[in-house]
Amino acid sequence: MDAVVVGGGIIGLASALELAESGLDVAVIDRGDPQASWAAAGILGPQSETAQPTPLLELGRLSFQLYPQWAARLGEVGFRAGGTLHLAFTDEEALQLEAMRRWQLAAGLRVEERKQGRAQLALFFPDEGQVDNRKLLEALKAACARAGVEVRRGAVAALDEVKARHVVLCAGSWSGQLAPLNVFPVRGQMIALDAPPPECVVFGAGGYLVPRGARTLVGATSEQAGFDIAPTEAGRAWLLGVAARLQPGSERAPVLDHWAGLRPGTPDGLPILGVLKSGVIAATGHFRNGILLAPITARIVRALVHGEKPPLDLAPFQPQR
Ligand SMILES: Cc1cc2nc3c(=O)[nH]c(=O)nc-3n(C[C@H](O)[C@H](O)[C@H](O)COP(=O)(O)OP(=O)(O)OC[C@H]3O[C@@H](n4cnc5c(N)ncnc54)[C@H](O)[C@@H]3O)c2cc1C
Repeated sequence: MDAVVVGGGIIGLASALELAESGLDVAVIDRGDPQASWAAAGILGPQSETAQPTPLLELGRLSFQLYPQWAARLGEVGFRAGGTLHLAFTDEEALQLEAMRRWQLAAGLRVEERKQGRAQLALFFPDEGQVDNRKLLEALKAACARAGVEVRRGAVAALDEVKARHVVLCAGSWSGQLAPLNVFPVRGQMIALDAPPPECVVFGAGGYLVPRGARTLVGATSEQAGFDIAPTEAGRAWLLGVAARLQPGSERAPVLDHWAGLRPGTPDGLPILGVLKSGVIAATGHFRNGILLAPITARIVRALVHGEKPPLDLAPFQPQR
């Protein structure tokens, strides 16, 4: 086997597909747990996710630019580049949002002010969007099957056991169990409300609303709870509070679903993308942005495997940093 990818979430599947399309024999080994990639909200927010300038901005923007073509090749995955809206209701929230507008405009990014009755400040970020991450996972599995990727169900106990010329570690929150990496789980809970969805993703009140078909998704908590993915009553109450502030009245709509997933966090909030040791590549630690960063991560993995120049400087994302 040319390459074995450990982990079949969005990062592993996107990487496996890219490697198979570059002419390699590829397998994915996945334990089959509920994954972050299933639990996510599907927001594609390179600017929303960088409250301060960090190397994540360029990585996220490059990935967002790849999205339209990447998603179109995979089929109907609910990709929409419709922008996102940020609302500030208090002086403190307005100051934070204003600071974000200032540096992003200075960096040449697009940010537009909007009128929004109840909010002190409303900013629209036109170069953002969303995707239906669950449809995307299914589409990636189908594309991998078409490209000849073999998906094996099983748990890898140690990377040395994996026999392949290249091993790619994409085990999300569990990556630190297989390599000396500081990746830790950050639980996120979400609910789906039977409430009319907003026109686009709306951020504010410490959370967000996402239109998903006829439903409104509300996210997300951020908790240190180890590997426990059980949703809690406290999480549900917090999420209903976010809904009440962002779309008053929606908190009284029936809660159709309530779930949680584990974001693969890193100490500096940046993903880990690079060579761990000869023949082993790490593509993990995508924290809040793995859905956004899937296409660019796949390109980077392909470049590292083939010894080509990656699409951007990987120094900030090195495993050894
Ligand atoms: C509530 C919530 C909301 C989010 N919202 C967004 C969003 O709006 N936009 C965005 O871009 N990102 C979002 N994220 C983050 C995003 O979901 C993650 O960054 C991304 O899914 C990580 O993908 P992954 O493939 O690395 O990990 P995962 O999806 O967790 O997949 C890892 C896989 O590896 C497998 N595995 C682990 N260990 C082993 C082993 N030893 N052997 C075999 N298999 C193994 C697991 O079973 C799992 O299937 C959100 C996350 C959460 C929890």
